[in-house]
Amino acid sequence: MMIDLHAHSNVSDGTQTPADLLAAAAAARLDVVALTDHDSTDGWEPALEAARQHGVGLIPGMEISCKTADGVSVHLLSYLHDRSNLALLEEITRAKDARLSRAERMVDRLSQDYPLSWDDVSAHLAPGATVGRPHIADALVAAGIVADRNEAFASILTAQSPYFLSHYAADPVTAVQLVRAAGGVPVFAHPMASTRGRVAPPEVFQDMIDAGLLGVEVDHRDNTAQGRQWLRKLARERGLFVTGSSDYHGAGKPNLLGENVTAPEVLEQIVDTATGSGAYLP
Ligand code: AMP
Ligand code: ZN
Ligand code: FE
Ligand code: FE
Repeated sequence: MMIDLHAHSNVSDGTQTPADLLAAAAAARLDVVALTDHDSTDGWEPALEAARQHGVGLIPGMEISCKTADGVSVHLLSYLHDRSNLALLEEITRAKDARLSRAERMVDRLSQDYPLSWDDVSAHLAPGATVGRPHIADALVAAGIVADRNEAFASILTAQSPYFLSHYAADPVTAVQLVRAAGGVPVFAHPMASTRGRVAPPEVFQDMIDAGLLGVEVDHRDNTAQGRQWLRKLARERGLFVTGSSDYHGAGKPNLLGENVTAPEVLEQIVDTATGSGAYLP
């Protein structure tokens, strides 16, 4: 069984429509894929329709941008929550709106030094999509300023760049509580991705587990080897699900569907635990 529980479509910063993502999952011989766009569930219906067409299992999900009081970025995956839950919906809407004004302000800054306008960025944004730095990167690529998203992130768009701005993001403990209250299964995404910046200290893990965190994404290309060991031990001690996933973004990142996978027993437990919405498992 090939089960990949973390993939993005152009509902956020992936490059394929949800339907094309499901086609790509079928072509990659995945049995199950989770759609986990940033701060949005708008891809759930088209993904489900395509999942039925291709006979690929679908776990509807999302990835919530969070930030600790100390400013450490935390990404929380939510699987199978009730998407009509008002408290959760309010939280992701707030994050999505904050992302938009932040991106506009970053482009304002960039436009002082580069031939770049908001129109250039929105050309790479599907209608209603959650905007992120990857879309600004796409505009920089189109303008011939950088070669690809990766180069943009390594230079003009790093968190240390003068053009960088942060945006409102939920506290991770609050996010875990909101996901649980919406019947979803919260899993800490790439918790040991030290190349992306500071990682959460053990106290943050403890607080999130106490709040109802149910899993950690261990097998992810951005987690360090040492970090994975630490996570496995934590998962054993605290009874957390261990997942593995690609964090596929289409052509926007080198990550390939199925490059990391989750055990069938774990998927079964996730599906059994969730009460918010159903999985499609043909
Ligand atoms: P943002 O949430 O707007 O700050 O942008 C972060 C997003 O950019 C994350 O979802 C990552 O998947 C993506 N990202 C981070 N680093 C890179 C990179 N080097 N190349 C392409 N995408 C990246
Ligand atoms: Zn992303
Ligand atoms: Fe992430
Ligand atoms: Fe992701």
